[in-house]
Amino acid sequence: MIKPLVSLIDAFKKLPGVGQKQAERFAFFIIRSPQNDAENLASSIINTKKSIKTCSICASLCEKSPCEICSDENRDRKKICVVENYTDLQVIEKTGRYKGLYHVLSGVLSPLDGVHQDNLTLKLLMKRLDAVEEILIATNPTVEGDATAMYISQLVKPHNIKITRLAKGIPSGGSIEYSDEITLINALDGRKEI
Ligand SMILES: [Zn+2]
Repeated sequence: MIKPLVSLIDAFKKLPGVGQKQAERFAFFIIRSPQNDAENLASSIINTKKSIKTCSICASLCEKSPCEICSDENRDRKKICVVENYTDLQVIEKTGRYKGLYHVLSGVLSPLDGVHQDNLTLKLLMKRLDAVEEILIATNPTVEGDATAMYISQLVKPHNIKITRLAKGIPSGGSIEYSDEITLINALDGRKEI
């Protein structure tokens, strides 16, 4: 196969969930696309990579650190909602129901996939506990999400902070990302102490 094509396919194969067949489909799609579209895609990848930073406080993605939420004086600084990733933060934020701060874990504990405590942003979370009254754990209701929630609650408990978890309602094994707004608002309102 032609060299540049092989390297494009190899690049796509590095994306999560993309195998050889899908990578080839993407590559051939790019080849058939107008030059402009391909250039826009390439430059938006480069621009995003250059301009997106990780917030030094909450580990969320931002253009300027600290992020907009961490810098917002009107947010309730006594609450921190712990989420798995930036997408979940966005979904919760969209409900408009939660006015506290966030903490982005960058994943969940999953020893089988090689994800351990040190791969998550837990040390950063532990540095933020002063003056915090509630940690709302909003990991997904999966085996890994539950295990991570338990682990965090054990870490935080000695600090005398109320620890809550989103109420059931999001189906077990389901995800925050694909929950509708009403389900999510109910899960936020009905959060339970653990
Ligand atoms: Zn932040």
